[in-house]
Amino acid sequence: MIKKFRQFCIFDTVRWIALFIVAAFVILFPVRGYANPEADDETEQEYVELDISKGKVLITEDGYCYGDNASVPFTGVYLITGRSNEAYGIEVAGGKHTLVFNDLVIDQRTLHDCFPLIIDKDATVDLNFHGDNVLYAGSGNSGILVNSGAVLDMDAYGSGTISMLSYPVMKDDHVYGERAVAVADGASISYPTAADCDLVEMYAGMDRKDFGRILTYSGQPFLRIEFSVEHTDHKLSAEPDCTHDQICTLCGEVIREKKSHTPGAAATCTQPQVCTVCGAVIREKLDHRGVWKVVEYVDYGLYRRETMTCSICGETLSRTVAVEK
Ligand SMILES: [Zn+2]
Ligand SMILES: [Zn+2]
Ligand SMILES: [Zn+2]
Repeated sequence: MIKKFRQFCIFDTVRWIALFIVAAFVILFPVRGYANPEADDETEQEYVELDISKGKVLITEDGYCYGDNASVPFTGVYLITGRSNEAYGIEVAGGKHTLVFNDLVIDQRTLHDCFPLIIDKDATVDLNFHGDNVLYAGSGNSGILVNSGAVLDMDAYGSGTISMLSYPVMKDDHVYGERAVAVADGASISYPTAADCDLVEMYAGMDRKDFGRILTYSGQPFLRIEFSVEHTDHKLSAEPDCTHDQICTLCGEVIREKKSHTPGAAATCTQPQVCTVCGAVIREKLDHRGVWKVVEYVDYGLYRRETMTCSICGETLSRTVAVEK
């Protein structure tokens, strides 16, 4: 019994000493992010660039799906570029995200039942525009749909435009249309707050604001924002590596170009040369080189066996080929 008690005491003392050392470390060397929470935030943000011409984008709470590919876990900034006339839209299904549209053109005027951008309930989106952007919806829909419970906060950087359009539908000799930006009850939206922002909003259907002005846009309910926002204070993404440029996560501009790959062992007849950092193929594998020599004829002369010694790697290869008549 006594022995057991002594063991317990020693164990207890060791535990207190360990606790004291840990506490001393925490006090003397606080975690960097804890001491200066903004430092990491300013420079470390990752981003992914998605080209809308190659497929639709679905952003979920903790990742994204691009085109027909499997979903990818991701929490950084989405830089979306390119131009598309397909039913390739962008849908944010949930979570809190920053999206940058840089010269993005989605024109679905000839299509039905599609929206360039949908923000679903429970999603909170900071949307930054740079350059000239177009979000034209399919027939009867809106350029942007913000569902109930969603939050969309739009900002613009540099000089450019945002054009949004709901293509009208004809029904019983009347033109019906949605707003260029459809905001459901219980949703929240804010537009770029540039001082010299030129905002023109027109509605169609039963909610027409100014019929004359709608006609100047061929009957299409249209919202165009011209922005000119002084922007020199770039917010940098993570340091460039061999797969990513360093960009501004506000406007999408490339600040420092990506580095070149770090070449691994030279390509051989069987192995390509790859980057030792990211694994990208720098030089395809070489093909064996040499002269095939006939060894023998088999199957009553229908086939011949040949061998070759590769002049690069020295390997001896053999094959059987049909003899042409
Ligand atoms: Zn910037
Ligand atoms: Zn690389
Ligand atoms: Zn070879």
